[in-house]
Amino acid sequence: MRRPLIAGNWKLNKTINEAEELTTALVAELADVTETDILIAPVFTALSRVAALVDNSPIQLAAQNCYPQETGAFTGELSPLMLKDAGCSAIIIGHSERRQLMGETNQLINLKVQTTLNAGMQVILCVGETLEERDNEEMLEVLSAQIKGGLADLSAEQMQNLVVAYEPVWAIGTGKTASDEQAQEAHSFIRGLIQGLFNPEVAEACRILYGGSVKPDNVDGLMAQTDIDGALVGGASLKADDFCRIVKFERIER
Ligand code: PEP
Repeated sequence: MRRPLIAGNWKLNKTINEAEELTTALVAELADVTETDILIAPVFTALSRVAALVDNSPIQLAAQNCYPQETGAFTGELSPLMLKDAGCSAIIIGHSERRQLMGETNQLINLKVQTTLNAGMQVILCVGETLEERDNEEMLEVLSAQIKGGLADLSAEQMQNLVVAYEPVWAIGTGKTASDEQAQEAHSFIRGLIQGLFNPEVAEACRILYGGSVKPDNVDGLMAQTDIDGALVGGASLKADDFCRIVKFERIER
C-alpha cells in the first residue's frame, strides 16, 4: 500500500510572521497524524523559521523551486543543498506556473529533478495539461512528454524518492476540480507510463498526487480513487482549518 501524502503549496503568499502563525496552527492540529505524510512549502524567506516550528512534528518542509546546480555563479538562485540546509526534505519541481510563467522546459525540469535527487531530497514532479490541450485531445501526448522528459535518465532506485503530482492546469486556482473519474483516468495513465519506463514494482510504489482546487468537500472522493495517493493543495493550504481537514480526509474503502 502506498502511504498517503498531502502537500501544501503556499506559492507567493505569507510574510514570515504570517507563515509562523499558520505553521503554529498546523503543528497544534496535526500533531497526532500518523498515517499520512504531510508537507508544506512556504516561500524561501520563511523556510528557516518554519523549519524550527515543524521540528518534532509530523510536518515536513518543502521548497517550491530550485536551481539545478550545487553552487556557483548563478545570481539569485538557490540549490537543493542550500534548501536542505534551510530544513527542506523535498522540492516541488515543474509546477505549471513555472512552466507557463517562467518558460521551464521538460529538459530543465529533468536537470532540477536529478540535482534534487542527488542531494538526497524528495522530488514532487508536477505534470498536467492545459484546457486547450485537453480540448484538442492532446492530453495523453502532453502527459507522456512531461513524464518521459521529467524522468529521463533516472534509475529505478532514484524513483523511490520521487512523487508525481498530476495537476490539470484548468483546475488550478479556478475552483474547477477534475471529477474523481477524470483524475483517476489520468493517474492510471501516468502509472502505466512509469511502468513502461521502469517496471511494475516502481509503478506500483510511486505515489501520484492530484492537484487542482482540492478542498475539504472534494478530497474524500478523490482519495478514494485507486491511483490517487494524495493531494497537492494550493489555495486551501493557506487556511489552517481547510488544510487540516484535507490531511484528515475520510478513508473510504477502495
Ligand atoms: C497548485 O498550485 O498546486 C494548486 C493545486 O492550486 P489550487 O489548489 O489552488 O488549485
